[in-house]
Amino acid sequence: MLTARDILNYIYCPRLIFYEKVLRQKQFQTFKQDNGIVKHAENVPSAKRIIYGEWKLFPNRLFEVSVRSVKHGFLTRADLLMWNNSEGRVVQFKPKIPDFGIPFAWKVQVCLEAICAVEMRLGKFQKGYIAPYYGGKPLCFDLDEQLIDSSVEIVKKVRKLIDDEEFPEMTNYPNRCKDCMYRGRLCEGAFDGR
Ligand code: SF4
Repeated sequence: MLTARDILNYIYCPRLIFYEKVLRQKQFQTFKQDNGIVKHAENVPSAKRIIYGEWKLFPNRLFEVSVRSVKHGFLTRADLLMWNNSEGRVVQFKPKIPDFGIPFAWKVQVCLEAICAVEMRLGKFQKGYIAPYYGGKPLCFDLDEQLIDSSVEIVKKVRKLIDDEEFPEMTNYPNRCKDCMYRGRLCEGAFDGR
């Protein structure tokens, strides 16, 4: 089974998957990542009290619930699934939403959680939310066919990379190499230090 972490890593840089899953070189968590996990655990309990707009339409709620898709070989833990008799919403809590909007990787994460929820027969999930726990309104987005196809395609690409043991291209965003533990060890990276 692939996890949300694998998918987020792949979107960040496909080589992270190659080093971790093919060469079995475990990725250590950076201070930033450790801190993010701690902050998430600290803030989600109070975020559970958020009742926003149309959320009132969904009386059934599960927080921090394990979800899986046997069909796609994917499992993760969703921050919040809520649903009524006919449809539902997936909510992912994040510290804040960047000025440019919701990052693509977060949309894919929510979309894959929705795919799992549908497979678990909790109803239709056609919209998702990113809810910032440091203030600001939750942002809603459509889980449309295009996003679903892209998300499923990414899961397939991650699996293919692992199965075929193909060495992938590096990320197109050199700044991502800056804090990468593989840079200078296994990977030349794209960040030139300036
Ligand atoms: S150093 Fe850069 S290219 Fe290499 S694995 Fe890390 S993020 Fe990817």
